[in-house]
Amino acid sequence: MSFNEIRWHPLLGTWVIVASGRATRPWRDVKCPFCPGAPETGEGWDVISLDNRYPSLSTTPVISAEPPSFSEVKPGYGRCKVVIETPDHEGDLDTISFKNVAKYVEILGKETEELSKDPGIKYVAPFRNKGELIGVSIHHPHSQIYALPFVPLKIERELDYMSRYNKARGGCLICDVVSEEERGRRLLYSNRDFILILPYYVQWPHECHIYPRRHLQLLSELTADERENLADVLMVSVSMYNSLFSFSLPYMMVVHQAPVKGSYPEYHLHIEFYTIHRYADKLKYAAGIEWGYWAFTYDELPENRVLELKEAMQKGLRRLRERGYSPRGNPSL
Ligand code: ZN
Ligand code: ZN
Ligand code: FE
Repeated sequence: MSFNEIRWHPLLGTWVIVASGRATRPWRDVKCPFCPGAPETGEGWDVISLDNRYPSLSTTPVISAEPPSFSEVKPGYGRCKVVIETPDHEGDLDTISFKNVAKYVEILGKETEELSKDPGIKYVAPFRNKGELIGVSIHHPHSQIYALPFVPLKIERELDYMSRYNKARGGCLICDVVSEEERGRRLLYSNRDFILILPYYVQWPHECHIYPRRHLQLLSELTADERENLADVLMVSVSMYNSLFSFSLPYMMVVHQAPVKGSYPEYHLHIEFYTIHRYADKLKYAAGIEWGYWAFTYDELPENRVLELKEAMQKGLRRLRERGYSPRGNPSL
């Protein structure tokens, strides 16, 4: 019997996803379950979306026991999906063809729309973990989508602060960031629909954010042109990261979109990349002060750090051109 539940964290006001029976999931060097011809994937595809065989959430969840009086438990209802971005076993978003990356973006939008029709789903969270240091169990290029029965704390916080900003100053916080930063020194790249910046408020060493110029809430609202330009800025961002050091850089990429139930006109969709390398041979850990208190420390001026990224951007754009892809936008100088 396996159990899927969400437990209320009464001190933090958020939910913990608890799933028993996931301990048996495959760990690394087994035969790749995502390569073409594997039972899960079959043949004849370029990008596909599948149900995760070892989901943290279930559409038929069972609760293990009554909660203690100070907490609460609910069924761990939800879906966990895997999006495989290429039939090739090796690679990253900068080596996969533009056609595939554009289709990948389209699938994330379609899944957002599909999953949001489920009355039990309140939030759709697409993310991509890359690299063993991030804890990736399968090397084959892939992303994940969690369809959650609650709105995650970080998103609640962003909603709160976007609406506070709107009340205090009118307009949208991220729209204002876009118009100020697109002329600023923390800008790395921009195309017609998106900008890539090292944010003023960066927390992880080379954390970068992608902000759409248009004020919108969900991936499913992107136009066909915007989807292509998002694919462009994703390829460019990842090529920049992979040109920073002499190795392919581990990262987390997360899509922050609005909750899918209710209306959140003040929210502005965006994508965040977190990287853990301070230098080629030094890692940044979310340790005592960061994880224990949610207070990040940054050991260089972000305005200096961005110079390393600008150099990597030049190299990254060159590498994309060498692979036959012409970026649609421009780096900042
Ligand atoms: Zn594979
Ligand atoms: Zn906005
Ligand atoms: Fe965010």
